[in-house]
Amino acid sequence: MAVAEKAKRSEKRKRKPKILAVINDACTGCGGSPICVTECPVDNCMLEVQNPDVPHTIRIEVDPLLCIGCKKCITKGPMDTLLEGCPWDAIDMVSLQNFEGEHGELAY
Ligand code: SF4
Ligand code: SF4
Repeated sequence: MAVAEKAKRSEKRKRKPKILAVINDACTGCGGSPICVTECPVDNCMLEVQNPDVPHTIRIEVDPLLCIGCKKCITKGPMDTLLEGCPWDAIDMVSLQNFEGEHGELAY
């Protein structure tokens, strides 16, 4: 991503989230119809990418600069029975501190 585009995105951010969604290896791509993307309220935050481990399939990646940590992508329905977010436990909510410790400081 171009630096200028990142800077433009960061202008939209008022404050840093405390947690971020990170997709783990359990992501199946939901057979090409990712449920999580339909729950995320932030445009272009959850992106479809090619799954390097399974040819011709997709998986999801989260743009850490856009994620607001709202947890809608992992939300369970009433009594934990109805799944609204990821049905495969493929999304981890990670503290911003841990994320930046691993990946470096984000350019908010
Ligand atoms: S935590 Fe919220 S903003 Fe972040 S990926 Fe999930 S639904 Fe989108
Ligand atoms: S809902 Fe879960 S398994 Fe499906 S695409 Fe999203 S992260 Fe991957």
